Amino acid sequence: MSSARLNGVGVSSGRASGPVVRVAESLPEPPLGPRPTDPKSEAARIRPATEVVAQRLTDRAKHASGDAKAVLETTAAMANDPSLIKQAEKLVIDDGLTAARAVYQAAGKFVTALQAAGGYMAERARDVQDVRDRVVAELLGIAPPGIPDLASPSVLVARDLAPADTAGLDPSKVLALVTEEGGPTSHTAILARSLGIPAVVACRGVLELLVEGLDVDGDTGVVRASDGTVRAAATGKKAVWNGVGILKDGHRVKVLGNVGSPADAAAAAAAGAEGVGLFRTEFCFLDAAEEPSVAAQTEAYAAVLAPFAGKPVVVRTLDAGADKPLAFLNPDPEPNPALGVRGLRVAFDRPEVLDRQLTAIAAAAAQTGADVSVMAPMVALASEAAWFVSRARAAGIQRAGVMVEVPSAALAAREILQVVDFVSIGTNDLAQYVFAADRQLGGVAALNDPWQPPLLRLIALVGEAGTALGKPVGVCGEAAADPLLACVLIGLGITSLSMNHTALADVGARLATSSLDICQLAARGALAAPDPGTAKLAARAPH
Ligand code: PEP
Ligand code: MG
Repeated sequence: MSSARLNGVGVSSGRASGPVVRVAESLPEPPLGPRPTDPKSEAARIRPATEVVAQRLTDRAKHASGDAKAVLETTAAMANDPSLIKQAEKLVIDDGLTAARAVYQAAGKFVTALQAAGGYMAERARDVQDVRDRVVAELLGIAPPGIPDLASPSVLVARDLAPADTAGLDPSKVLALVTEEGGPTSHTAILARSLGIPAVVACRGVLELLVEGLDVDGDTGVVRASDGTVRAAATGKKAVWNGVGILKDGHRVKVLGNVGSPADAAAAAAAGAEGVGLFRTEFCFLDAAEEPSVAAQTEAYAAVLAPFAGKPVVVRTLDAGADKPLAFLNPDPEPNPALGVRGLRVAFDRPEVLDRQLTAIAAAAAQTGADVSVMAPMVALASEAAWFVSRARAAGIQRAGVMVEVPSAALAAREILQVVDFVSIGTNDLAQYVFAADRQLGGVAALNDPWQPPLLRLIALVGEAGTALGKPVGVCGEAAADPLLACVLIGLGITSLSMNHTALADVGARLATSSLDICQLAARGALAAPDPGTAKLAARAPH
């Protein structure tokens, strides 16, 4: 066994080992040539390839249940679709294309037709693309792209994973996750934490590592070669917390959950969250090809709000764009999507989409009895905040706030707080924009460290503005999930902290050992520090 050891950034706690399964890179478009010398026998390769793919999907369907079973059966039938096979064979014989290119083009025609039909048909376009990629991969003799089927518990290794892929991982099959790219505040890291899968990102060299197994430590970020023996996730002992966010001097700070699905909501409620400080609604629709109807949105939101009847829940309106594109809101690629039309910016061009979402949120609130506020993502100016608040009020939602995740919003905190009921600081994006460091890139992960003093100084500005105006200022970025940093944030004037359910007990228990005076001393020390390491030491000193 190799003694290889790599260091990445641990982003989801726990340690596990097991056999490695690699996620294949996305499939390149098959080239046009070379022209096959014997088109007839080239065309004859297509049917066996589709049969192999259909058989694999049918086998998978046998071991699945519910929706997954139905989807696999439908996809298997698509792979065997005689008209797709016929058209592809014709392209080989008449136009001299290779079998792979012919399947690619023939399926492309179906995809375009389905997309043009819209509605349910458009949803099927993705399935045809999936079948196309599987058949092309089979013809080229390479692994099909996407998350492979895991027959037994394994460690997944990938260059990076899209949030939509990560959200679909089965924690009983994925022992741990290691990516070559990715930052600590990327949505993949956030989703891995909420699924409880130990994860290490920015692990340079892991793709080249030819080993049978890996041992992954999601706390230290160390990844070692192993013999492939399965050792399931061992997580550190959880602190005991009574579900009330209170310092030892009686100072109250709301300790809330970040959620994106009914399962997250149930886990946050079970872990004692006093409410929800961030409901990422876009996580409900990562796979949707079309804008969900108001009724479908209401149902999706109500399922998440249900465990919080009578409790405060901040519902964030769709934060589509950047690494979380939604097909119905961000159809065109942008050169710099993180700096593009994302979050609330999408709504300026299409306010009717925002209005329909607000209507659905109000209906879900009425249905469940949750005490709902709404919050807009990616706000840069006070005028944008005022625009959002007026639309929320028009939809019958009385409490409206915005996220502070663009540096201009932190610098304009006073003006913004004058027109909203509350703000919540998204430290993940705020760090990305302050340091000009892509939160998905392993190479700049150190800049996205929430202990960076320049980031803390911006948070302090917002905290001071909130205190001066007597309005709540929360933090719902990953910074809130670090128990020591949570104390610093309180010292900077933060009134609520919202985090992944796995962090609630540790943060809640830590607050109970601190006082406002101690938090303010810790904050002063961290603000004055020259770097993250010194900031941490300075914050620890008064405790
Ligand atoms: C943030 O940016 O800190 C935040 C909470 O929003 P998201 O992580 O969904 O971008
Ligand atoms: Mg954000």
